Amino acid sequence: MSPSSLRTAVRDRMAEGLDDLAALVAIPSVHDPAVQSLDDCHEVASAVRGAFADLGLEARLATTADGSQAVIASTPAPAGAPTVLLYAHHDVQPAGDVEAWTSDPWTLTPRDGRLYGRGAADCKGGIVTHLVALRALRDVHGSFPVGLVVVVEGSEEQPTDGLEDYVAAHADSFAGVDAAVVMDAGNAAAGVPALVTSLRGTAGVELRVRALRGNVHSGMFGGAAPDALATLVSLLASLRNDAGDTTIDGLDASGTWDGLPYDAGRFASDVGMLDGAVPIGSGDPASQVWARPAVTIVGIDAPAVAGSSPSVQATAGAALNLRVPPGVDPVAAGALLVAHLERRAPAGVEVTARVVGGGPGFSATAGPYSDAFRAALASSYEVSSVGSLGGGGSIPLCATFERAIPGVEVILAGVSEPAANVHAPDESVDPSEIEHMALAEATFLAALAAR
Ligand SMILES: [Zn+2]
Repeated sequence: MSPSSLRTAVRDRMAEGLDDLAALVAIPSVHDPAVQSLDDCHEVASAVRGAFADLGLEARLATTADGSQAVIASTPAPAGAPTVLLYAHHDVQPAGDVEAWTSDPWTLTPRDGRLYGRGAADCKGGIVTHLVALRALRDVHGSFPVGLVVVVEGSEEQPTDGLEDYVAAHADSFAGVDAAVVMDAGNAAAGVPALVTSLRGTAGVELRVRALRGNVHSGMFGGAAPDALATLVSLLASLRNDAGDTTIDGLDASGTWDGLPYDAGRFASDVGMLDGAVPIGSGDPASQVWARPAVTIVGIDAPAVAGSSPSVQATAGAALNLRVPPGVDPVAAGALLVAHLERRAPAGVEVTARVVGGGPGFSATAGPYSDAFRAALASSYEVSSVGSLGGGGSIPLCATFERAIPGVEVILAGVSEPAANVHAPDESVDPSEIEHMALAEATFLAALAAR
């Protein structure tokens, strides 16, 4: 089969794929009963199951320990052909403040060449990428030239580890998978293909400070009374130096990134930095975000400004999110952060910290399958080379697949380039990313069969 016939077949399947995307986005599948009825998740799970069953795959729903439904669809490999796992997830982040969206988050809405809606990129766009790729491949080839195991998770955006537990408990059903294409990341920019080869691991740390038996008048006692909030501020300040580098006792923060660079101007625009601001830290932006640890203060317990009273605070607290480069154990790094904070407790002030949850990082092992996927990306996007990126979020499943399926090559790609604004208001997808990525996946699968 010629590459041009796949290109035409993918193009011919795009309108149907975008109709599927609109139908999926219309179902608010947030897997959190506090936000949304789980009926929506079940509805989207059965729609996704049906779409893969229509392709001729043996498709079923697997209920995971957290109550979510994963779609698992498979077809055996023809003799001598490899088996490829295709991953996406059908649950989404909540819409958050609907007023902050330019159009309704649950109505796929075209604007300026992009399609807006919650999940349009993350990860319903990934599901549709797989559907378009497989439909086009079948159109051209008549059947599937490789074995397939499609896994569409139902609770990826929740910390409940539903599919991680399921994969670990059912490793047998994934035996024989040679490569896993995780379609939940994104390119450097629309039209600039890249594989994500590294994800930072993460650990949460909760910090509590207690300095007095109760709040006291700041006029009568401030200046000599131990102050929990001031202690908290100085503890948090000890986590960075003046350059902005992370300074946790015993944790290396000097790594450098050797993949594609992250242009400082593009970084500033992706992040929404203010005029005149420069990225912080002594390293280049790619090293800062992909090769070094970072600790972010994600919550503080302190009186709000409105209604605050002139008193010395007896207690204060903070929630910290630590990210570490692949190869660094996030739990051990979290323990270093805990020790760093507790070591700095002023005499007579109680400082307690503990690690609350976390997940490992991921570092892709290069091999024949990722080389073949890179070649397929280059052909699809019509570029000469495909670089390597670090990824933003943690995808614990990548490490889970590597543990459960010995020797598997995990390939991390997707349609969530920086402009997609995933997890935020006005999430969107560039439909040309779905088309190019679907063509790359179909080309990849066809090339494996031809070996
Ligand atoms: Zn995702």
